[in-house]
This record gives sequence, C-alpha cells and structure tokens, in this order.
Amino acid sequence: MEGKNTIVFDHVEKIYQKNKVIEDLNLTIPAGQRLILLGPSGCGKSTTLRMIAGLEEISGGELRMGDRRVNEVPSGKRDISMVFQNYALYPHMTVRENITYALRVHKLEQQELNRRLQTVLEILGLEPYIERKPRELSGGQRQRVALARALVKQSRYLLLDEPLSNLDAQLRVQARKELVKIHELYKQTFVYVTHDQVEAMTVGQRVALMNQGQLQMVDTPYRVYNRPANIFTAKFIGSPSTNILDADWSDGALRILGQRITLPDCWNRVAAQSGETQLCLGIRPEHVHLQAGAAENAILGTLRYVEDYGNKRGAYVSVGDTEIVCICDRLPCAPGGVVSFALDSEHIHLFSRETTQSLGYPPELDEAGSTGDSAEVCCAIPA
Ligand code: ADP
Ligand code: MG
Repeated sequence: MEGKNTIVFDHVEKIYQKNKVIEDLNLTIPAGQRLILLGPSGCGKSTTLRMIAGLEEISGGELRMGDRRVNEVPSGKRDISMVFQNYALYPHMTVRENITYALRVHKLEQQELNRRLQTVLEILGLEPYIERKPRELSGGQRQRVALARALVKQSRYLLLDEPLSNLDAQLRVQARKELVKIHELYKQTFVYVTHDQVEAMTVGQRVALMNQGQLQMVDTPYRVYNRPANIFTAKFIGSPSTNILDADWSDGALRILGQRITLPDCWNRVAAQSGETQLCLGIRPEHVHLQAGAAENAILGTLRYVEDYGNKRGAYVSVGDTEIVCICDRLPCAPGGVVSFALDSEHIHLFSRETTQSLGYPPELDEAGSTGDSAEVCCAIPA
C-alpha cells in the first residue's frame, strides 16, 4: 500500500539522554505531498525532520521511506536534499559552482548537469548572478541559491527547516509562492518545518501540528482552522487566538460564566452523545458578532478596550472576569458599554474540559467541514 517516496512514521520515538522529545509518532506523508510540520519552538519539528534526513538516530519504532525501513540507512543513501535555516554557501565559489557542487562530486554527465542548472536558474530568477560570489548577493538571493542547490539534486525527498526565516516579510511571501511552484514542477515528497502558522497554511497541502513532542492534528489547512481536533489546535491556529470559555452542559443548555445559553438541537445531540458535561466552548474572534445591549440567548459582557487595525477593530469584552477578543468592522458602542453576542452554530467548537479533545461536529454542518482534501481525517492524540 505504501507507494514510492512515501514517508511513514510508525510508533517512532526519540529520546535524548532520558528526555523523550518525540512520543509515539504515527504519521504518513504520501508521495509527492507538501506536508508542513508546524508547532511552537522546541516541540520537536527539527528533530522529526532530522530523523527523516538520517541525521538523528531513531530511539524506538520504525521509519519507512518508500517501501523500506530506513532506521539503519545512512543519510547519504536516503535520496534526500535538505535546506536549513542557517544554510551555508561556499564563500569562495560562484553561484554556478555552489549550485552544481554536489552534481560535480557525483560526476553527473555534463549535458544533464547543464540542463538541471538551467531549469533552476530560470525558476528562481538567478541567471543574472551565476558568476557572483555569495558576498555579492542579497539575503534573498543567497536563500534562493541554497534552494537551487537542493533542487538540482532532484532527490525524491525535499526537506526544509525554516528555510525562509532569514528573509524579510515581503521576500517571504514571494519565496513561498516560488516554493509551491517548484514543488508543482518536481513533485518530490516535501516536508517543510515552520513555527509560522501563516506560512504553514499557505504552503501546505496538509499541516501536521505538534506540541511537546506529540502530534496534535494532521489535516488540510481548511480543516485545522475549521475543525480543530482539540483545544491546542484551536488556539494555535488563527490570530488572535480562539476564545475558550468553560461551559457546563445540561438539558439542552450551556452554563457559561453564570449565564444560560440554549444550544441549537444539532449541537445538543453532539453534547449528549459525548456523555460529557464539563465542556469548553471555542469561538474565534472573527466569529463573535457584538451588538449593543442585552439580547435573548446571547452572552452579556462589557466592552473594555479597543485596538484599531486600520481595516478592522479588535474589541476586548469582559464577561465576568474572563476576557473575550472580537474582531469587528464597526464598534457597537463606546468602551464601557454593555454588549452581547449570540453563538452562531456554524462557528462554535465544543471540547471536553478533561481531555481537551473536540466533541466533534453536527453532521448537518459536515458539508462545510469536508471542504478540501478529506481523504484523511483528522488525527488526534490517542487517549
Ligand atoms: P523545534 O525544531 O520544534 O524547535 P527541536 O526538534 O529542535 O524543536 O527540539 C525538540 C526538543 O529536543 C527540545 O526540547 C530540545 O531542547 C531538545 N533537543 C534537541 N536537540 C537535542 C540534543 N542534541 N540533545 C538534547 N536535547 C535536544
Ligand atoms: Mg527547529
């Protein structure tokens, strides 16, 4: 079943001294897919990538690339190319020599070497610079040379570890588009590490979100945003973060911060089926629609503080001693005023307070949730 160039982590773990930094990792990266490893600093992204590269010994479980176990296969025999955050170009070599170095070492035939060189120069717009030394290039150009050097190898696996972090914001946007274009052309199995969720969502066909050595969710950008598997995912994806409120469910209603809010039937069925009553309600700042004054079946609070984003406003509302963030076009009233917001059934999330895992979604809303590649469903940490 595992195709050529597929990467499979099968109960993989990584232990440094006594420290378990990757726990029971099960993840399949289909051949030719762009998978993003996303998560906060220190969560184990680089370690995971370096295990694929063969630069890090695997402490437990099995890693398969293509159809074979590679735990004991040295890096040089895995057919990978890698671009690191702190890539180093050879300072005494020209751009052309830097890019073709590995090919010359492997004695690739000259005609083929020229053909590959020409292709990457064109894609990355490096032709005008081929005779320059790295010190005569800008940061962005150097970055592209590092990428070109990885691409000409035409390896089956392209591994990138925060490759754009040295670029300024504008160049990053540009480089992201180039990377996707390059991948569409070469179709290697592409694994890209970043802590930047915007980068993950724009480059990834699938996003694997990690926290503290544990995989939290693997799915399309659409689904990690709209159908988060747990509270960590709901909070990590999106900015400002999803609001999370304690909510106790009974008899078709939620008790949230002392207020009783009835839920639509479809959500009541989800809550009833879960058998859980101590819940957390998630709602994204962009899905909180504030109105002035009290309203029926709406959560009541006080508008405290406003941030002006130019095109939008960020409004901070206190409900009891909890603060909720909302993004709105217009303010319903001045700071200090009483506001309320209803819960839109299409835009709420319910989690178990104990396990922090999602209770799931009403089937009635599934049409929205299944947009994107739904071949693989979300994967949460096993209980
Ligand atoms: P990320 O790339 O997500 O920022 P890393 O994979 O680099 O995280 O690190 C994961 C964890 O493993 C961190 O807690 C880090 O301190 C630890 N770690 C990484 N490399 C080593 C090492 N060589 N020896 C001991 N601990 C390490
Ligand atoms: Mg790292």
